[in-house]
Amino acid sequence: MSNQFPSGPGSGFPQAPAGIYCPKCNSKNLQATVETDTKVSGGQGFSGGKGCLGFLMFGPLGLLCGSCGNKKATATTTNKNFYVCMDCGNKFRNPVEAIEEATNAQRTGHAMGVFMVVLAVLCFIVLIALSAGIGWSLASVIFLILGLICAVLAPILLVAAKKAKAELDTLQALYPHIVSGH
Ligand SMILES: [Zn+2]
Repeated sequence: MSNQFPSGPGSGFPQAPAGIYCPKCNSKNLQATVETDTKVSGGQGFSGGKGCLGFLMFGPLGLLCGSCGNKKATATTTNKNFYVCMDCGNKFRNPVEAIEEATNAQRTGHAMGVFMVVLAVLCFIVLIALSAGIGWSLASVIFLILGLICAVLAPILLVAAKKAKAELDTLQALYPHIVSGH
């Protein structure tokens, strides 16, 4: 009863990678568990919003718009693997998955953040050029708004990337033998 990884044929649980232990009490007495998130999108049948909008635009015939347009319901299921520590009750995400997710979040957040900085700078350059050339116009207002949106999004994305990096560092310090598959 030292290791309780319910792995092997027919157990339905993924094989626990070697060297995974409870980050709280270092116990290897772990039970694998899977949580499934199911998200259903579309397929609601009649959509009130669309129907009302259709009614406003096309009268009673427009109400029919509410019942068409979304035919198929799509269910997306994501499996998340956790371990429950049999000694202290701590439940934690499978570190292999957590490291992979944090790596992706860090890369995406950083790339998007840098992209937003570049975009914001470009928008403001165009804005300055426009207002110097033809004065204020609708175009300069659009570039001002775009630039502001990018300027607000950039730090949010970069902070998220930094958080993911910190999480990744913590995980890699705990489980140095697990290397992200990317
Ligand atoms: Zn524990």
